[in-house]
Amino acid sequence: MSKRKLPNEKNSDEKKAKTTHWSLGLLETIKDPKNLIQEDSYTYVIADKFPKAKYHYLVISKQEISSISKVTINNLDLLRHMEKVAKKIVQDVQSKEEEKYNFKIGYHAQPSMARLHLHVISDDMNSACLKTKKHWNSFTTNFFIPSENIIESLEKNKTIQLPSDQQCKNLLMKDLICNKCIYVPKHLGDLKKHILEHLKK
Ligand code: AMP
Ligand code: ZN
Repeated sequence: MSKRKLPNEKNSDEKKAKTTHWSLGLLETIKDPKNLIQEDSYTYVIADKFPKAKYHYLVISKQEISSISKVTINNLDLLRHMEKVAKKIVQDVQSKEEEKYNFKIGYHAQPSMARLHLHVISDDMNSACLKTKKHWNSFTTNFFIPSENIIESLEKNKTIQLPSDQQCKNLLMKDLICNKCIYVPKHLGDLKKHILEHLKK
């Protein structure tokens, strides 16, 4: 990524969000250096506080972009850099771990937390923090948009098209299905037991 000085873009959405405190949780977390796994000129990396899989990290933009919906062609270098950071994290984990986990790197179509952040998450989806259908669907349906797709879209079309509000609602409320086979559970509890079988393989 080029070493240009980041513009001091005071994003009005982030300012607005100051009235809804919980949505600023990531910004609170990055204030404490103990929470930073790593940092460079453009990003912070933290562990997700409520991980939805064995490994779940967030690459957070230092530039004050509130959300993926505010990203433009001008942010292409930043997004490429965030993806590079994410891929390096995956490499590091995979080189240290005996069990090999597959990872997904992407953005939620409608993030709940302020400041642009990229999820880096192993695909086991085995976590006590994964408690709802929405949690499951937010990482296993098209609500989760691979970083590569966002970058490709900006490169080809100079813009990104995110799912509509209604499409997002539908994706989050979709019937549950295993992310690794065709198993259709009745309840999330059944699915949480079922995914343990995939870990044994
Ligand atoms: P998103 O839906 O893309 O906005 O995801 C936000 C992520 O931030 C979720 O995976 C949460 O588990 C995680 N999270 C929420 N609050 C905090 C916090 N205070 N520190 C770190 N991660 C958090
Ligand atoms: Zn399965």
